[in-house]
Amino acid sequence: MQEAVLLNDKKILVEAIRSAREAVVNMGKELMERKLVAGSWGNISVKIADGVYAVTPSGRGYANQKPEDIVIIDSACQTLDGALTPSSESKLHTAIYAACPEAQAIIHTHSIYASALAAMRKPVPAIIEDIVQIIGGRVHCAEYALPGTQELADNAVAAMNGRKAVLLANHGAVCWGKSLEDALIVAEILEKAAQIAIICQSCGGAVELSSKDAEIMHSFYEEHYSKRQMGTEK
Ligand code: 13P
Ligand code: ZN
Repeated sequence: MQEAVLLNDKKILVEAIRSAREAVVNMGKELMERKLVAGSWGNISVKIADGVYAVTPSGRGYANQKPEDIVIIDSACQTLDGALTPSSESKLHTAIYAACPEAQAIIHTHSIYASALAAMRKPVPAIIEDIVQIIGGRVHCAEYALPGTQELADNAVAAMNGRKAVLLANHGAVCWGKSLEDALIVAEILEKAAQIAIICQSCGGAVELSSKDAEIMHSFYEEHYSKRQMGTEK
């Protein structure tokens, strides 16, 4: 019998908590290497069960993070396990889990090009195939709100409108995935799309894809391509 603990009235396998914490630590290092975050900014979470989430601690760099530094929180952002303060953006994470039932992991980045568009409060336009496949159209920029606030969380969810990414005005981006690896793909492709958009804007502008073609690409991604990425379709 595998060892379990009671968290938020739910029986959770100790192994599930251990592997979620380890996955979050490893993803922090990946985000650093890929320059999607810098310093201690940005944050990561993984859903262990409904109302039980593993989230990065607030204000701690990724390089020396240990599994025990990762905080386990509930939907009200209260600590269930862990000694450090959970991310100041925990409300953003729990709001997205509540609004997007398919979300299993969330990555909040401060990547350069997505942040540049966010500083201009402009969307990532639907100009390139891969991001359009993932999102199904433009990635919107949410209304501005101070970091760490419920308003920021509410504005992000409203502008995300069920899609997998949104820009946070004058701040960065937030992406969710059906797994942590999926969330990383969204974050990387979003950053690439933002870079392409800025290159195009400085060279006369790009041609945006039609919403009909965006929908065709998005359906193909949802029905087939994302499953191939996850290894659940041949
Ligand atoms: P935390 O270190 O509290 O997660 O905050 C970083 C951040 O990106 C705030 O928006
Ligand atoms: Zn941030």
